Amino acid sequence: MFDIIISEFMDEAAIDSLRRDYRVHYAPHLADAPDELRDLARTSRALIVRNRTQVNRTLLSACERLRVVGRLGVGLDNIDLAGCRERDVRVMPATGANDVAVAEYVIAGLLMLLRGAYLTSAAVASGEWPRQQLIGRELGGTRLGLVGFGGIAREVAARARALGVTVTAYDPYLAADADAWGSLAERCDTLTTLLESSDAVSLHVPLTQSTRHLIGAEQIERMRRGAVLINTSRGGIVQERALADALHSGHLGGAMLDVFEAEPLPAGSALEGVPNLILTPHIAGVTRESNVRVSEVTAANVRKVLEGVRR
Ligand code: NAD
Repeated sequence: MFDIIISEFMDEAAIDSLRRDYRVHYAPHLADAPDELRDLARTSRALIVRNRTQVNRTLLSACERLRVVGRLGVGLDNIDLAGCRERDVRVMPATGANDVAVAEYVIAGLLMLLRGAYLTSAAVASGEWPRQQLIGRELGGTRLGLVGFGGIAREVAARARALGVTVTAYDPYLAADADAWGSLAERCDTLTTLLESSDAVSLHVPLTQSTRHLIGAEQIERMRRGAVLINTSRGGIVQERALADALHSGHLGGAMLDVFEAEPLPAGSALEGVPNLILTPHIAGVTRESNVRVSEVTAANVRKVLEGVRR
């Protein structure tokens, strides 16, 4: 019998803080063991997850005492939000706690993709000297297009501007008179205009019905020849086959993906053997520092709900 089940990795200090007041079961393998998780969670009042644990109807209907789902991060696409609402289960994301980690990842990606010179260690160590093939581009002076202009995109914009980049963003849900426009980015009315006018595009939208495959063959075709694309938001927003084709043909100059339709990637995926493509395993938001922040915020969020219920 546990009060809190933690099914993915979390900073130990934050777990210990919860253990002082609650019976906590910490088992990061549970994200991949749904039957075991369901059995353990039957009597628990809180569930703490990242993005791998599927908090679906099957799990929710087994958890009769559940009051809160603490999300170690921000994307909520692995959580049945309607199901939680129906059962009066609060969903608490760690808003803002990993923005800096993702923003730094994006800036590093822009520099790497445009310069194109950083992944040659094996060739240089073996005596090759490919200087002329490695004459890349500078980031300063380019135009960066951000799709979605929420917390993370604004951190990217601030850093990019400091490097001499002109930043434009497309976010039809953000009021035209919001403070963020102007000081951080120019507002762009349509996705097409943003894609056509940017040297680099970075995606920062949630995965919803309206953003699934937002960037497909047609949208990639609109991008400038040689432009680069970064996706740290969610797999499913970019059509992977269309991106692979654009990199093979040379229409796009490069891409960096941290998130995928299926994670881990299945054998024989469209992304195998694609040139000028950097892949990372959904790690953009996870640094030592952000792990501590995200875990502290989540522990506090869960505690707040459980204490409220007790009163
Ligand atoms: P946020 O909620 O602060 O911002 C998202 C913005 O997207 C909002 O301003 C919203 O208006 C806008 N938006 C929604 N639909 C849109 C559409 N169709 N077109 C244009 N804009 C649209 O979110 P955030 O904290 O900045 O996170 C952004 C994304 O990054 C999320 O998908 C999140 O899951 C992902 N993320 C990934 C990692 C990682 O490790 N790779 C870490 C943190 C967050």
